[in-house]
Amino acid sequence: MQHPREEKTFIMIKPDGVRRGLIGEILKRIERADLKIVALSMFQPTRQQIDDHYPKDKKWIERLGDKTKNTYTKYGYDLMGEMGTENSLKIGEEVRKWLIDYMVSSPLVKVVIQGSHAVDLARKMVGVTMPALAEMGTIRGDFSADSAVAANRDKRAVHNIIHASETKEEAEYEIKHWFGADDICSYRRAEDSLRE
Ligand code: ADP
Repeated sequence: MQHPREEKTFIMIKPDGVRRGLIGEILKRIERADLKIVALSMFQPTRQQIDDHYPKDKKWIERLGDKTKNTYTKYGYDLMGEMGTENSLKIGEEVRKWLIDYMVSSPLVKVVIQGSHAVDLARKMVGVTMPALAEMGTIRGDFSADSAVAANRDKRAVHNIIHASETKEEAEYEIKHWFGADDICSYRRAEDSLRE
């Protein structure tokens, strides 16, 4: 069984993060949090790559639709008027399309990071999906005020700077999807020697 410090997760700096010059800021936060960068690359994704990155199952798409519905309800906006339906799956499918358009709109930066509780720590650092609701101190909370109500009015995905895998299983899938085994580097950071 792998050592707890070998847990890996996947993050990707999205088009708004890249185009606002936040690459350095984000990498700095990862390294500062005692997480080790073990793979790193900037690239222009294809639609197919992004389509295969995000889950295609009904449950995930419905959940995406539910998130939109919740934001509309919370702020008292007219869901039917703007989305033309109240069906979670239909809304989710629409949002997934917007998401793919958004993700291919500029180069991205893909990163594998490693450390104890890497998956949970990266999610904590990134903050919740809607930047307007994300805590200050998180990447999304500090650098964006976007939310589903503003995004859906404009018929686009929420711009939230960065993606991070949600579970260990998701991380494993995404690392394999975006990197080859040879791309993952193994090295010791200075504090590794203090722990041995
Ligand atoms: P997270 O990225 O926090 O894991 P999800 O997996 O639920 O969030 O959603 C994937 C991405 O889809 C989000 O990061 C965001 O860019 C976009 N998104 C999610 N919900 C909506 C929505 N209601 N309207 C527009 N875009 C959305």
